[in-house]
Amino acid sequence: MLAFFINERKSMKVILITGSSRGIGKEVAKYLAKKDYQVIVNYNKSENQAIKLKEELKKENINIDIFKADVSIRQEVKALVDFIINKYKRIDILVNNAGISSTNLFTDISDEEWDRVIKINLYSAFCVTQEIVPYMIHQKKGCIINISSIWGQVGASVESLYSISKAGIDAMTKSLAKELGPSNIRVNSIAPGFINTDMNKNLSEKEIETIKNETPLEKLGKAIDIAKCINWLIEDDFTTGQVISINGGWIIT
Ligand code: NAP
Repeated sequence: MLAFFINERKSMKVILITGSSRGIGKEVAKYLAKKDYQVIVNYNKSENQAIKLKEELKKENINIDIFKADVSIRQEVKALVDFIINKYKRIDILVNNAGISSTNLFTDISDEEWDRVIKINLYSAFCVTQEIVPYMIHQKKGCIINISSIWGQVGASVESLYSISKAGIDAMTKSLAKELGPSNIRVNSIAPGFINTDMNKNLSEKEIETIKNETPLEKLGKAIDIAKCINWLIEDDFTTGQVISINGGWIIT
């Protein structure tokens, strides 16, 4: 029975979600773990939340791995990827989700802030993808999903640095889709609009209500909306190089 269980888990698709002990990443991790993917939850600062998530899923007989790594640091990314490859010998799906917000007038952005935001939002996706792609090429199959933002598509006043980092993500998505398509690796971006997570905790109730009123579907986005789109992208076979906006119609390009 145990041997059967172990074999069964070995045949499960292995998925890494960066920054997934809270927010959008956590919801994605829960959704896919319940669909029988072998989920690796990466966290950096939120260790307690990662442990809590593991325990919560264990109660439902679902086993996930949790692994601490600052994905903006090459050595930590290498350790994360080594852990996955040593344990599962493969990696099928990568979700580059880790990110931070940045609000500042363009003229007030310091070099330090530029480096920090670009490192965490853009370099991290570059670095994790670079470490993982050779394994996907070897497997002749893979699916990479980058979480960008509507602001990467249309730009945001007082959030130019964040927008620049997310536009970079979308450019990486399109270029890699072309480069890796012949290796049967699909690369797509999901560009969320407003999603109710800690990232937006500085917005007032009035500001949130305004966003809701400006949204044709007259509701706010939830992390589960992103999880469902990720699940669809994983199961799909013919979508690559696309930026999929999940925003209730708030921004239509
Ligand atoms: P969140 O609740 O603030 O969560 C951010 C996540 O990123 C946390 O799990 C955090 O992990 C992780 N993270 C940050 N720096 C990291 C690092 N150096 N290494 C590893 N993990 C790191 O934000 P969210 O709303 O879930 O955002 C997730 C993604 O969606 C981000 O890329 C964000 O830009 C994008 N997005 C969000 C919205 C929105 O409205 N919420 C809209 C568009 C796009 P630790 O806590 O462990 O450090």
